[in-house]
Amino acid sequence: MTEFRKAIMKADLSEILGQERVKEELKSALITGRNIVLVGPPGVGKTTLAKAVAHLLPPQTVNDCPFHCDPQRPSCPQCKAGKAKTKMLDQAFVRVQGSPDLTAEDLLGDIDPIKALEFGPLSPQSFTPGKIFRANKGILFFDEINRASEKLQNALLQVLEEKRVTIGSYDIDFEADFLLIGTMNPEDTSTEKLSDVFLDRFDMIHMGYPETASVEHQIVMMRRQTLEGVSMPERLQQQIITFVRQLRTDKNIDRKPGVRATIGVVDRATSTALLRGHKTVTVDDVVAVVASVLSHRMSLKPSIRYLEQPEQYIAKQFQTFVRDHDMDGGEG
Ligand SMILES: [Zn+2]
Repeated sequence: MTEFRKAIMKADLSEILGQERVKEELKSALITGRNIVLVGPPGVGKTTLAKAVAHLLPPQTVNDCPFHCDPQRPSCPQCKAGKAKTKMLDQAFVRVQGSPDLTAEDLLGDIDPIKALEFGPLSPQSFTPGKIFRANKGILFFDEINRASEKLQNALLQVLEEKRVTIGSYDIDFEADFLLIGTMNPEDTSTEKLSDVFLDRFDMIHMGYPETASVEHQIVMMRRQTLEGVSMPERLQQQIITFVRQLRTDKNIDRKPGVRATIGVVDRATSTALLRGHKTVTVDDVVAVVASVLSHRMSLKPSIRYLEQPEQYIAKQFQTFVRDHDMDGGEG
C-alpha cells in the first residue's frame, strides 16, 4: 500500500482537465484508504478519474485464479490444491453497473447447483465467483451505486467491512480486498436511497461541469471530431461553449446540458457544414443542429414546461444569443 500511496502523492491526474479541488479531495481520500463515491452529473469524467486511479496501482503478483488469491495465503479450492500459477496483476479495474435488478449473487457469486451435486452444496468447490473477485487487490468501479437494491448495499457493506465474502450459511470464506469507487448522479431521483449506514462507509466527492470556459474549450479541442475539408472558426467554437455554459445557469432549466452536449453541437455543426459544402462552419450550421443536440440533454422547469417544448426553447434562446453576441450569419 505504501507504493500506492507514493504514486498518489505524485499523481497529477492529468487525464482530467481542471477539477483541481476534486483531485485534491480524491487523493487525500485515497491516501487514507477510504472508499469513495464521486457525485456529479453525467459526462464530467467520473469514469476517467476512477480509471486514472487504477493506473496508480502498483503491479502485484497474484494467483492466476478467478479469485486473484494472495500466493502466500490462497483461499480458493483450486489454489489450496496447489494448482494455481502466479501472474502479474496490473491495474485491476472492474466495472459494475448499478441497477435494481443486480443481485448480491451476481456481484458476490453463488452456489452452482450442478457443481453442488458433484461436490456437495456446502463445498467451496460448488461456488461460482461473482464479479467482485476480479476486483480483488484492485478497484471496483460501481457506476450509479445508488441504483443498487438495499439488499445488495448490505451485502457490499459486509464485504467492505470484513474484506471477505461469506455466503449465507455455507462454509465459504474468500478474500475480497479492493478499493471501491462508486458514482452517483445527484439529479437521478428514480432510485433507491443509499442508507445512512452505507453512506457512513464512504467519502463523497462532488464533481461539477468544467469550472471555466477555457477548461471546457481544452476538453472540446481534445474530444471533438475533425472532418477533412471543413474547419471550425475558433471564435464560433468559443461562442458555442459560452452558449451551453449559459444554459447551465438558466433559471428555467432543471437538468443541464453537460460537456458531451457542447462537443455534440460542435461536431454536428461541423458535419452539417460539410454536407452543405461550406469550407468553414457558419452560425447557420449551428442553428440547424442546436435543438437536435441539446433538447433531450436538458429539461425545463415545470413552470415553463407546460408552455414550451425544449426544442422551441433552445431554438429561441440561441436566436437571442446570436443577436446579443453579434454573431456573423454568413459563410467565412
Ligand atoms: Zn485462488
